Amino acid sequence: MPSLSLTRVAKTYSGNTIGLHPTDLEVESGERVALLGPSGSGKSTLLRLISGLEELSEGTITINGERVDRLPPHRRSVGFLSQRPALYPHLTVEQNLLASGTQSPRKHTPPTHHISLAETVELLRISPLLSRLPHELSGGERQRVALGKLLIRQAGVWLLDEPFGALDPVFRTEFRADLHLLLERTGATMIIVTHDPIDASALGRRIGVLGDGRLQQIGSPDELRTRPGNRFVAFCLGRLSLIDGRVNRGDPSGRTFVSECGSVVVPLPDWLDSNLANRLGMATGGSLTLGIRPEAVAAVQADGSDATRPGVILAGWSVVAVEPAGSRWVLTAARGRTRIRVEWSSGSPPLVGSLADWFLPADHCVWFDGQTGRRIGDSEQPVG
Ligand code: ADP
Ligand code: MG
Repeated sequence: MPSLSLTRVAKTYSGNTIGLHPTDLEVESGERVALLGPSGSGKSTLLRLISGLEELSEGTITINGERVDRLPPHRRSVGFLSQRPALYPHLTVEQNLLASGTQSPRKHTPPTHHISLAETVELLRISPLLSRLPHELSGGERQRVALGKLLIRQAGVWLLDEPFGALDPVFRTEFRADLHLLLERTGATMIIVTHDPIDASALGRRIGVLGDGRLQQIGSPDELRTRPGNRFVAFCLGRLSLIDGRVNRGDPSGRTFVSECGSVVVPLPDWLDSNLANRLGMATGGSLTLGIRPEAVAAVQADGSDATRPGVILAGWSVVAVEPAGSRWVLTAARGRTRIRVEWSSGSPPLVGSLADWFLPADHCVWFDGQTGRRIGDSEQPVG
């Protein structure tokens, strides 16, 4: 049985602003889901509806099979952590922790864990902070104290709304590690909102992508990376280089994809070519978006060995950025207004400002319908 279940949950704010279109979501007990999406996409609305800080316009929410959407927040076994969590300003850290109290006992929801104040203090390494007042804490310390409150309250479902927002990059990694440890210890179910795909992949067993108040896709980080449902999901995950363009049927050797400024020309794979008319509803051409995986692109080999592989050569691109990424480099190359990202894993990368030719293997292209944004297929085949 899922620990948390949303059925057609929707929110319309006063003035007819849609916060969330009818949304279904099931989260297993102990599961961690990350919500990814740009500002205004409905992430906080979704969390506030679950926690009871906001009233539903339609739909139902159950926790462990019990309907909770009409219960007040403190009776839902839900803990909410915001980007800048509120602590009582006149109470010390210790008093703040004690003041959080435990959830009122629930018929169907026995506490998922029992953690004493002493253990909370140890797990979160906050013993030196106990006698301080909230204004004497750094952003990271404040966040750890707020987490401590969730632990002591024995919330079964943790809702974390951009908890890394106020943290320095160094502390983010540390705080992520703390979160993993606590979730392991408590078995709590978690939904975490972030706009960073790295945080989302690190913390979510599944990632849900929200856009325009709709859950666009939900799946494992790997699924979303390799099979994004649409251009928007691919954009939010930030891995593919997305190039908008059109189908050109004037080419005698068959139809080609031509990017908006003409610098990328790729022959359409046969399945796409023969399916264009019915799949896209355009017999005479139309708009398409090409997605290129950065790990698939490589510098053209001097010995001409690329000629034996199907693909195209992108010639004369200037290198505009070279950034270290772990043991590799990520390059950005540009021609006209079009940019692609390239992963460089062996030897020293070309210099910024130099010109380079790239080989794009045909079997690493991802295609999106330019009108609807839907992914229509990968190099080999249409979406099944
Ligand atoms: P996110 O957290 O993804 O940035 P929100 O859930 O805060 O997005 O907002 C979703 C949409 O609902 C936005 O268009 C936002 O302007 C609107 N919205 C959020 N809160 C309110 C509110 N209290 N009153 C009216 N509109 C709101
Ligand atoms: Mg928000």
